[in-house]
Amino acid sequence: MPLVQIADRSTHARRASVVCRVGGVPVGGGHPVVVQSMTNTDTADAAATADQIAHLAGVGSEIVRITVNTRAAAAAVPEITRRVRQAGVEAPLVGDFHYNGHLLLTEHPDCAAALDKYRINPGNVGVGDQHDENFRRMIEVAVRHGKPVRIGVNWGSLDRALLTSLMDENARRAEPLEDRAVVLEAMRESALRSAELAERFGQPHDRIVLSAKVSDVRDLVSVYRTLAKASDYPLHLGLTEAGLGIPGIVATTAALSILLHEGIGDTIRVSLTPAPGGDRADEVRVCQQILQSLGLRHFAPQVTSCPGCGRTTSSSFQELAAQVTAHIQERLTSWRARHPGVEELRVAVMGCVVNGPGESKHADIGISLPGSGEEPRAPVYVDGALRTTLKGDTIARDFAALLDEYVERRYGSGASG
Ligand code: SF4
Repeated sequence: MPLVQIADRSTHARRASVVCRVGGVPVGGGHPVVVQSMTNTDTADAAATADQIAHLAGVGSEIVRITVNTRAAAAAVPEITRRVRQAGVEAPLVGDFHYNGHLLLTEHPDCAAALDKYRINPGNVGVGDQHDENFRRMIEVAVRHGKPVRIGVNWGSLDRALLTSLMDENARRAEPLEDRAVVLEAMRESALRSAELAERFGQPHDRIVLSAKVSDVRDLVSVYRTLAKASDYPLHLGLTEAGLGIPGIVATTAALSILLHEGIGDTIRVSLTPAPGGDRADEVRVCQQILQSLGLRHFAPQVTSCPGCGRTTSSSFQELAAQVTAHIQERLTSWRARHPGVEELRVAVMGCVVNGPGESKHADIGISLPGSGEEPRAPVYVDGALRTTLKGDTIARDFAALLDEYVERRYGSGASG
């Protein structure tokens, strides 16, 4: 009897075949999925914007987008670029244009030259003949400067003329689709027709990235599946207006995980509403964690720990999990510099004998604390085998020392083992 294949952990194979180079970062063509983010400073304030770009890039944003909404913002872009490059930040900068992009890009050639990519929203470049004319002016700037563009459709600013015409067409069908389905069809069409128009105006095929963002998880999955089937352009994924805190993170993760696992998506952004006083770079951390959880990229060692239950009698297990995580965080920058590959390290911190030894053996290095009624001993497993047993008040310190020793031994020479 044939065995049912349950161990296929590969993703499906749709990553865009076309590679679009944004600054020095390849997007698509099977390259690793790129993490990006967007500033929320006033772009006209060059110092504040440059500082935030440096912070986002420092946490790991590989592309950073800034809004370019006014003449003052456009005039500040060359200064922002100068400041971030002087600070050693290499992340490409993308200008986000709406309504007046055709004016800003043509009136501020230094801004057009300083940016690495332009985001164009075809839903707000003008109406009627003006739409194509304004769009043409932006594309011609992109062609002149050799810059890629993202055709970024958003259902909150969908091309009304296109939507109306598709609604009319739908009404004449024998069996009309629901309005929602027509909206999604309009989003896909807006992206594809705009890309076609951009190419007609001279933009090369490999300098176009597409996105079609909505705020509903199922709609997002649906629209990107059809977009991926209909074209080979690299796709920028993101659930727009995802919200604040846990609901925003969970909704984004749900949507992006489905698509990324199907091989759809070449660059991602998480659109979280920051909590007052919160850290804008959380959106970068969420992107990284999504990609790491899916096994698509590795950014930092993964700590597997159980939730704990009635078998864990004290808070010592939670404290140890927090201490190990903090220890890794503290060491990470120097580990990355001295031990290439350490991002793939898997550590387990478990609460009792039920799943503790098993999970620890699956990790590179793991510890299983004693649950209630167990002997007060904590076996440590290294590469699947029992290495030692820790006891007493120094368990956290002793385990950290074993962890350092493991990293040194396994990744010390730069080999990932
Ligand atoms: S490993 Fe033990 S302590 Fe952790 S959740 Fe399972 S039974 Fe509870």
